[in-house]
Amino acid sequence: MKTLRECIKEAEAKGVALGHFNIANLEGFHAVYRAAKKLGVPVIIGLSEGEEDFVGREEAVALVRTIRERGNYPIFLNADHHYSLESVKNAIDAGFDAVIIDGAKLPLEENIILTKKCVEYAKGVNTKDGRDILVEAEIGFIGVSSKILDAIPEGISETTMTSGKDAEYFVSQTGVDLLAPSVGNIHGMVKGGNPRLHPERVKEIRQAAGVPLVLHGGSGITDEDFTNAIEAGVAIIHISTELRLAYSQALKKSLAENPDELAPYKILQPAVAAMEAAAEARLKLFNGR
Ligand SMILES: [Zn+2]
Repeated sequence: MKTLRECIKEAEAKGVALGHFNIANLEGFHAVYRAAKKLGVPVIIGLSEGEEDFVGREEAVALVRTIRERGNYPIFLNADHHYSLESVKNAIDAGFDAVIIDGAKLPLEENIILTKKCVEYAKGVNTKDGRDILVEAEIGFIGVSSKILDAIPEGISETTMTSGKDAEYFVSQTGVDLLAPSVGNIHGMVKGGNPRLHPERVKEIRQAAGVPLVLHGGSGITDEDFTNAIEAGVAIIHISTELRLAYSQALKKSLAENPDELAPYKILQPAVAAMEAAAEARLKLFNGR
């Protein structure tokens, strides 16, 4: 069975990217897994702190492990955007495969201190329990919401993009496995279109950082920008808002068209199908198909 680290390495060698999809319920889980399985590609399920509370930490681990072990399938669980050492520890202890400590809003030095503590904790567990938990950190603020936005959030511009120098310094100080930089990407989808990505900056950061890069805020980005970013060195891409949108639109329609239906598995079926289609389209693109 391949580990997440091996799958990332393989993706980089092939010039493709792994898809990371946030879910908040069993429907999302099935939708993402089915999409990945159809294409035969590894996939990462992400849970933010809020999603983790809703789904249940141990429950999420059990779901992912069951599928992985039963089908010998490379599906992994990531603690997406965790903001404290405490919540990172909880996810690691519960059995998550990877964690993200998000100190992007902190001054760089404070971000380094917090990230370092998380890396040390994960390494301790890896040594003790023979696991290979990956730690990802963020530098450069890219906003915090997975919603439809009227405009680009305040505090994000080309001047706030991550520099190669900062990336190199940050990785050397913290020892993180993965780095999520700011390269024109933002969380959420902007009504008038998301800003363009800067592939030349991705390339510079990948070289300077020396670790695989993760692109957050993938929803709303054009196919061309994705392809260029992957070519420039992005190994994992996060999609959340697009699946939320697919889910809520399909669910509203299903409820409106079948007002007398009471069976959740019937009401929810179109929402699962819509999320699956959204995930499949992105996975195809990320894998150059
Ligand atoms: Zn994110």
